Amino acid sequence: MSFLKKVNWFNTIFMTIFHLVGGFLVINYIINFGWDFKLLLLGLVFYLLTGFSITAGYHRLFSHKSYEAHPVLQFFYLVFGAAAFENSALNWCYDHRVHHRYVDKKEDPYNINKGFWYAHLGWILTKSKGKEFPQYKRDMQQNKLIMWQHKYYIPIAVLFSFILPMLIGGLFGKAIGALLIAGLGRLIVVHHATFFINSLCHMWGKQTYTDENTAKDNFFLALFTYGEGYHNFHHLFHNDYRNGIRWFHFDPTKWLIKTTSYFGLARKLSVTPKRKILMAKMKMKQKLICYKGYDKSVWTEQMESMIYKVDQKFSHWMKLKEEYKEYCLVLKKEKTELAQLKLQEIKRELVEAKLNYKMAYRNWRGYSKFLLKCYSY
Ligand SMILES: [Zn+2]
Ligand SMILES: [Zn+2]
Repeated sequence: MSFLKKVNWFNTIFMTIFHLVGGFLVINYIINFGWDFKLLLLGLVFYLLTGFSITAGYHRLFSHKSYEAHPVLQFFYLVFGAAAFENSALNWCYDHRVHHRYVDKKEDPYNINKGFWYAHLGWILTKSKGKEFPQYKRDMQQNKLIMWQHKYYIPIAVLFSFILPMLIGGLFGKAIGALLIAGLGRLIVVHHATFFINSLCHMWGKQTYTDENTAKDNFFLALFTYGEGYHNFHHLFHNDYRNGIRWFHFDPTKWLIKTTSYFGLARKLSVTPKRKILMAKMKMKQKLICYKGYDKSVWTEQMESMIYKVDQKFSHWMKLKEEYKEYCLVLKKEKTELAQLKLQEIKRELVEAKLNYKMAYRNWRGYSKFLLKCYSY
């Protein structure tokens, strides 16, 4: 009896119907009418619109305020975020902020310690009677657009998730097909792609920056989660608008935010200082070696001094970079020979500083690899 009381019947019935009936209807349609390129394209467009509205909108903009967005962009993310049927932005962001604050603890709404299915879907199907944290909603309650979306969440969601694809499909005579492929089918895929962030991104991958929570960095998962797979980085530096920090990290949400900034729709993109990221990475590696090695005294001092050296060299390089930028600005105004010479000198120092840092980093990396190898036997 107590179990039945814990069930969130509305969500359970909705999710069951939409998975079983929706899934059946979509498969049945494909069997009877075959694949249609226009419908697939429409499905892909709605998959991208609704998914990115969750990751770039609900997540990185409204939950973490990792950048500021023009009201037009906010409106766009709110209507298509609603179309992902993952709750209103106010409730979604509230849950997510509590998740960050109490990750892996009993207050965490999608605590991975309760198992994969609970973190993935189970938490949506149950009534959470946890402690309330009104402070995590307050700022969002001041945003009129967020409150408008919260009030009309269901009609907005139905309109942008089902009616809009139907209308577009109707333009080429396939309204029902559009409802099934770009509406229901797309919704199932978007749900699981984004739910993986709460489940698998806390299970599989590397703890590159911190082991104080279960979040993992996983390139493979980034491919399915609109770039949210670098979850270990995200949990430590949640104000950063990026999850994948290197240019080759697959993070299309980051690319989208950056692109919108070029059009004046996003600004003040928050970026974690490089030194902070570097230090977290090195300290984490040291911790890992520490777990494996028994006789710490042999290498601790050596490792500490190497980390210190990398830090020094990196800071010096960054300082020169700033100086160089400042000098370039000066030179634009006064094109004197002296300024030119000074600029060349800083440029030379800058190249040298970069090489010194790279060398110190390589030495540290080589030594830490060597230690990890030693202790893995
Ligand atoms: Zn997480
Ligand atoms: Zn987050």
